[in-house]
Amino acid sequence: MSDFNAAAALAAMKSGGRGGPPPPPLEQAAFDAAGSAVMAALPRGADAVLDAVVTAWGRADRLFDTIRATPAFALGVAPAACKKGCGWCCHQPIGAAAIEVLAMARALADRPQAALVADWKPGAPCAFLKDGACSVYDIRPLKCRSLWHLDVRHCMAKYANLPVMAAGGVSAAFQLEPKMIYEGALKGLAP
Ligand code: SF4
Repeated sequence: MSDFNAAAALAAMKSGGRGGPPPPPLEQAAFDAAGSAVMAALPRGADAVLDAVVTAWGRADRLFDTIRATPAFALGVAPAACKKGCGWCCHQPIGAAAIEVLAMARALADRPQAALVADWKPGAPCAFLKDGACSVYDIRPLKCRSLWHLDVRHCMAKYANLPVMAAGGVSAAFQLEPKMIYEGALKGLAP
């Protein structure tokens, strides 16, 4: 990740590097950052691998923060509709890598939020959604971090199982950059 250049990565994506092989630069950078953490930890055992998951979350967050700080991002990307108190996506299955679930379980052992899981039933909103906000925000899975919707109606339609999509298809409903970063990191957890 040391030679990663956020502005160059965004420029490469905007000039046609999105989708298809080879992977877009943001996805590749996130994959490399997560993958290197996991690979370095593997010989040191299970606890080290779970530490690597936490490292991978942090590296992906920092990569997104770097991208968000570039003028190219601010000028080229429509603002996300996501905000504290919304939570439509937390009412739907999101998914997490098994290794992330284990890292969350380890962290929850020392937190009162662990008790929330006991009352959860299939079909209910995420057990960790409290008062409209994520109560485990710092240890939420990569999928949760990746979803920056451009239009809350998309999330509501998905929740209601209605065939309503943003013009241009499902990818046009998201900010693509965080999706690339966090999904790249997710792939990097199993390099
Ligand atoms: S972990 Fe947090 S962000 Fe993810 S679905 Fe649950 S409440 Fe929402």
